[in-house]
Amino acid sequence: MQDLKDLRDLIRTIPDYPKPGIQFRDITTLLADPKGLKRAIREMAAPFENLKVDAVAGIEARGFILGGAIADRLECGFIPIRKKGKLPWKTIGQEYTLEYGVDVIEIHEDAIVSGSRVLVVDDLIATGGTAEAAIKLLQRSGGTIVGATFIVNLPDLGGVDRVTSLGVTSHSLVAFEGD
Ligand code: AMP
Repeated sequence: MQDLKDLRDLIRTIPDYPKPGIQFRDITTLLADPKGLKRAIREMAAPFENLKVDAVAGIEARGFILGGAIADRLECGFIPIRKKGKLPWKTIGQEYTLEYGVDVIEIHEDAIVSGSRVLVVDDLIATGGTAEAAIKLLQRSGGTIVGATFIVNLPDLGGVDRVTSLGVTSHSLVAFEGD
């Protein structure tokens, strides 16, 4: 428990960013802390170490920082999931709903070798809309989802339940209640 409390203390909360009423959980302060970063990577990867992960799929942008390090730790490859229009080769896209309107995430159409075992990585799960889109995109591309791992869970927004209902196990290190 002490470990978890320490990680939580390294995350900065910025009230009313990017708009009134949102408590932004800023992990840059954790990333800047050598011991905190190392511990976060270790703990995000730990449950998946013996699950034969073939690739980590990181969600732009903070999922890239964490996902690259987790892939190195799990000795597997890394696949970037990007916002629409950013990838240079042919892509497959998945729409998802935001509070206002829709957005699209993409991967390269040849990013997944059929049947490969993929771990989804992002910094935070809130409503789970982004993670759900990532899971569906990877599954449509032929991947088997081993799990999804996050530093922060905002349990009141129901994202973990949403991911669980897709049959995917999620793992997070710190919860902020009341968001
Ligand atoms: P959601 O799709 O609602 O689960 O939102 C998750 C995505 O939005 C992640 O990529 C997060 O980085 C970002 N996000 C959502 N809410 C917050 C928050 N309160 N603080 C920081 N990032 C957030």
